[in-house]
Amino acid sequence: MPELDGFVTCRQLKRDPALTDIPIIVVTGLDDVDSINSAFEAGASDFIPKPINYSVLIQRINFGLRTGQVTAELRNSKLQLSAAQRIARLGYWTWDTQRDIFTISEQLAELVGIDFTTFGGSLVDFINLIHPKDREFVRDVINAAGHSKAIQHIEYRINGMAAEIIEVQQEIEALTTKNQLFVTGIVQDISHKKQAEKQIHRLAYFDHLTGLANRSYYQERMEDIIKPAQQRKSQFAFLFIDMDGFKNINDTYGHHIGDMFLQEIAQRLKLVAREIDFIVRMGGDEFCIILNNITEEATVAEIAKRCLQKLEQPLILDNQQIKPKASIGISLFPKDGNTEEEILKATDTAMYMAKQTGKHRFIFYSVHMTNQVKQRQQKANMLREASAKEHFVLVYQPQVSLETGKIVGVEALARWQHPGKGIISPSDFINLAEQLGLITQLGHWAIKTACEQIAEWQKAGLPYIQVGVNISPTYLQDPGLIDSIQSILQYTNVPAKCLQLEITENGLQNVSRIEIFNQLRALGVKIAIDDFGSGFSSLASLKQLPLDGLKIDKMFIDDLLINPHTPLLLGTIIGLADALNFTLVAEGVENKEQAKIMMGLGCRVMQGYLFSRPVPGKDIPALYNADFILDNLGDYIPGKIVPARHYFSRKLKWGPIRFQQRKMTWRVCLRRPAFVPLQPKTQNIGFRLASYFDLARMT
Ligand code: C2E
Ligand code: CA
Ligand code: CA
Repeated sequence: MPELDGFVTCRQLKRDPALTDIPIIVVTGLDDVDSINSAFEAGASDFIPKPINYSVLIQRINFGLRTGQVTAELRNSKLQLSAAQRIARLGYWTWDTQRDIFTISEQLAELVGIDFTTFGGSLVDFINLIHPKDREFVRDVINAAGHSKAIQHIEYRINGMAAEIIEVQQEIEALTTKNQLFVTGIVQDISHKKQAEKQIHRLAYFDHLTGLANRSYYQERMEDIIKPAQQRKSQFAFLFIDMDGFKNINDTYGHHIGDMFLQEIAQRLKLVAREIDFIVRMGGDEFCIILNNITEEATVAEIAKRCLQKLEQPLILDNQQIKPKASIGISLFPKDGNTEEEILKATDTAMYMAKQTGKHRFIFYSVHMTNQVKQRQQKANMLREASAKEHFVLVYQPQVSLETGKIVGVEALARWQHPGKGIISPSDFINLAEQLGLITQLGHWAIKTACEQIAEWQKAGLPYIQVGVNISPTYLQDPGLIDSIQSILQYTNVPAKCLQLEITENGLQNVSRIEIFNQLRALGVKIAIDDFGSGFSSLASLKQLPLDGLKIDKMFIDDLLINPHTPLLLGTIIGLADALNFTLVAEGVENKEQAKIMMGLGCRVMQGYLFSRPVPGKDIPALYNADFILDNLGDYIPGKIVPARHYFSRKLKWGPIRFQQRKMTWRVCLRRPAFVPLQPKTQNIGFRLASYFDLARMT
């Protein structure tokens, strides 16, 4: 070693971190104490004097390697421990109770965000690190720990750096050694865990789309609301809000826009509710608001009204302005229900009634509603069954040309043949069928049955008669419509022009339907607007529509003799229809005066009780041969009730009778349904004069 001596070499080796665990045995010729001390100071782990005793050296080397390894392991495990503590965000402290010496681990200092070296070192210093609101109780727990053998587990908050609050959990244990009492605590940062818990809570209890409470949260909260209300005998109101026509928004604009719509609704509801109220999204487009501590029904009504007004404010979706509408059912606790189930059911029933009675309104629950709902459910079940078993028939009402007096077409009208209740009219089931999603099935059935009937009449010797079939806007949108009409026409062998679809004006609102009209007309099928004039379509818009005919609403006919504007308005409509080459049918013509005025206005085809009520298909051939010339009608007023006692003795017989009215003698056919008791008590009866056709057939 010409330049370095053994001590320097030793020091340099020790300086290299990679070599720290390698034991160094200094072999020295000098056996004086100073040299030995210098060797140890330089980092040697052992020394051996010259001359070397090799068997001793081997023992020393073995020993040196063993201790080196143990030291390395110890240091590694210390490092691992502190790494583990850091990862687990763990730290610990020890408090010597007698001397009030409070030591904290480096990791704890790091966790709390203070400088380890500047920590004061007493219990008070530690307590000062804690969130002011938690200080007292943590101090009490630490002080009390000495008197208890059990491990104490607490959670509290620490004021971290930059006003950040760290949530920790701590386990405290007391240790007694030689009459000295030490308390140790292991502190773990659980802020992340708490965050995750909050997140899980949010996910589990709040609706992710609107941020409102969800149904699970609602279930829990209701218990917390109902119990105290029962104890304190207080009241609360429950509002169930269901958006009107939300499905339509989803279908028309897509789900993305539908979601935005719901978000906006949620915002608006929040603005209406008070801080103490609880708003829930029950699912889909259904929301609930629980109005706490409300005693006045009028106040609830006021809030419900505000709700509707707020919701109704125009909203721009996809560049279109819409006014959201809602139906609200309201119930009051405990009047309408004592449990969550009862109160929800009552509110749901009230909401349902709001929908049934025209939507966009609020209705308070009342007991008799439950009955009505039950009845509807029964009716719904019956209608489903009827639909499956095709318990329907079509009756046909002639459309008569007053130029020729002949039938030019018929309208097919559905009747429900109920096994127990007899014939049920469409006004009593079409809406329900629509709501139950049965209307497509019914529409398909009606087209099929009507076409089969046309074919049957033709086989019986009649020409192919045009039949108008009523089609609901829902069925019009059915993707299978065109195909199924095509195949029905094919298998019945009926010319397409004999099938006319009658669609009400509200079925026209959507522009995309023009496309369907075009496709139907390409098949040769005719399209007529039903109840024309009762809706909102403007005369001008008619020009753009691919149409074949208009059916003038009965409302106008009823008005003809009353309202002087009506003939003028009808004149315009008829003129326009002529110009556009539309066929025209006046509906609901009940008397000769109406028929005459309509004739005068240029409408030649009419339909109504004056000519015939709707009749079974088998009766059409006879009617087809009848003459419906206006002059034949005389002054006979079909539908008029004539008291029977003027013409009959008490012993009435069924069959044709003769009577006088307005100086003319008539023979009429009396049928059981034609009888109307006039005054049930006196047993006086009368009869309703039959239609012109019945009359014509009899004379
Ligand atoms: P609508 O299409 O306007 O049919 C005319 C209604 O007026 C029929 O009632 C008919 O019997 C009645 N009516 C005809 N002439 C007169 C009259 O002179 N005076 C009076 N007061 N009424 C007259 P109905 O058969 O009860 O049908 C009611 C409505 O039900 C129909 O009105 C139509 O909208 C709907 N409907 C009927 N059948 C079907 C069907 O198969 N499918 C669909 N979707 N709707 C149908
Ligand atoms: Ca119709
Ligand atoms: Ca009509």
